[in-house]
Amino acid sequence: MTISQPLPAAIAAGERIAIVGGGLLGMVLALRLAERGAAVTLIEAAPELGGLASPWTLGGVTWDRHYHVTLWSDVHLRGLLRELGLEDEMAWTSVGTGFYSGGRFHPMNGALDFLRFPAIGIVDKLRLGLTIALGSRIADPIPLEDVSVEAWLTKWSGRTTFERIWKPLLRAKLGDRYRDASAAFIWAIIVRLYAARRAGLGAERFGYVRGGYARVLAALEAALVKAGVTVLVDTPVTRVVRAPDPGGDLVVSCATGGLRFDRVVLTVPAPLAAALAPDLSADERERLESKTYGGIVCASLLLDEPLGPYYVTNLTDEWVPFTGVIDMSNVVDRAAWNGLALVYLPKYVRPDDPLFEESDAAIEASFVGALERMYPGFSRDRIRAFRISRVRHVFPIATLGYSRTLPPVETSVPGLFVLNAAHIVNGTLNANETVALAERGLDAGLASVGRGA
Ligand SMILES: Cc1cc2nc3c(=O)[nH]c(=O)nc-3n(C[C@H](O)[C@H](O)[C@H](O)COP(=O)(O)OP(=O)(O)OC[C@H]3O[C@@H](n4cnc5c(N)ncnc54)[C@H](O)[C@@H]3O)c2cc1C
Repeated sequence: MTISQPLPAAIAAGERIAIVGGGLLGMVLALRLAERGAAVTLIEAAPELGGLASPWTLGGVTWDRHYHVTLWSDVHLRGLLRELGLEDEMAWTSVGTGFYSGGRFHPMNGALDFLRFPAIGIVDKLRLGLTIALGSRIADPIPLEDVSVEAWLTKWSGRTTFERIWKPLLRAKLGDRYRDASAAFIWAIIVRLYAARRAGLGAERFGYVRGGYARVLAALEAALVKAGVTVLVDTPVTRVVRAPDPGGDLVVSCATGGLRFDRVVLTVPAPLAAALAPDLSADERERLESKTYGGIVCASLLLDEPLGPYYVTNLTDEWVPFTGVIDMSNVVDRAAWNGLALVYLPKYVRPDDPLFEESDAAIEASFVGALERMYPGFSRDRIRAFRISRVRHVFPIATLGYSRTLPPVETSVPGLFVLNAAHIVNGTLNANETVALAERGLDAGLASVGRGA
């Protein structure tokens, strides 16, 4: 589901390559290039590597800043974890899913729950089942790129089911930006969950590495250092241009001055990549800048007890100020958090949403107030810690005709490459796709590293 557009084919051993952006993508790319003999420098703006997957500390507990689970079917990610010696450190479980609809919670864990779900009638339920079966059988999603997700789902499932089931699911992933998405987006989700069910022999199996992403990233960073990668953190890059001298290096500007490289790969979000590289052509710039990104405001809460039995609760009631409830305690052994429970309240929004400017205190008051209204046994004195993450550019939305507007990986600036989540076509943003994107780009184009050009 990722593109196979190649990174450069001919790279000589010892070639100086900078990877800008030390998220998971940049880290895996850096590791693979170093293993093939390149002299790699990984440059990250934040004080630590990991990007969206990085951990933070909440009430004395260190865990992922954003909720992360691995599916049994995530073969690329699991391959990397195996390589890092972490696959045996994974714990697996089946998770429960619920719906909050009409002021009540409803389980959604199989056919019986589905049949009992009161929000839609039996005919609509049949149509919904057929829609999913149809989606899972579509081999080529490209024609779906020309139909909006709302039009496609309404056509097959009907308006009531769209409003009561699909829209809450779409809002949980995209916020109100679901209106911009093509049907290929829901196709990718149906296929991923079908694969998970198949691989998990019926039930969805979700897993995590004991210790969370802090442990994964520490192991990956150790592998980078061992492979000879130079890691620069706390180093925001401000510009990448080619030096004026004939055959000149690419110069990466940061606070400490200009660093010179033979090649540079930008793994930062598409609009940021456009801003860093002034020499890109007008068409390349337009393709990067026009990507419609979704952002997130995501609250983490440490509670004395889990909220309920579901890992994910989808919300049909639009008064709720967040777009889903993720109760991580239903996946992770609570011993990891000193016996407490960890809940995430994500709100997917546009990068320019006013919520980004709102104070932590105002967001906390609105989110906690909603939880008290939703969960009868819940009150704010059960909260041990509350912290908010804000990210304006999380992933580009699969808009109409998306794959026709892809930015090129190899740019018109010699030696400059852009590879990021915008190149995950007809897939969803997850660590498995991210690792696959790094590996596939390399397999396609960088195999000659270490053998000389
Ligand atoms: C809320 C949420 C939930 C998720 N849930 C899951 C899940 O359950 N399962 C799963 O598998 N995946 C999940 N993911 C997805 C997963 O986190 C991503 O697939 C992965 O982290 C993407 O890595 P990346 O390197 O492509 O991007 P990023 O992590 O965004 O990395 C880009 C990096 O570039 C850096 N950067 C930006 N500008 C500059 C600059 N000028 N100079 C230097 N560095 C710069 C940034 O600081 C960042 O570190 C989730 C993500 C989010 C946000």
